[in-house]
Amino acid sequence: MCFAESSVSVEIEEGGLVTEQYQCSDCSSKFRGIGKKVRCPTCDSSNVKKVG
Ligand SMILES: [Zn+2]
Repeated sequence: MCFAESSVSVEIEEGGLVTEQYQCSDCSSKFRGIGKKVRCPTCDSSNVKKVG
């Protein structure tokens, strides 16, 4: 038997989640967020906007 089929490395986020780039409007730090309720990891502000 041959199990040497090319094991292609595909990166899929758990649960198919997609991370998006956000920027905090308060401290201008950029970070990746998941979901709709995204908060800044630096200042914990919810005043963030999607970028990119
Ligand atoms: Zn911030």
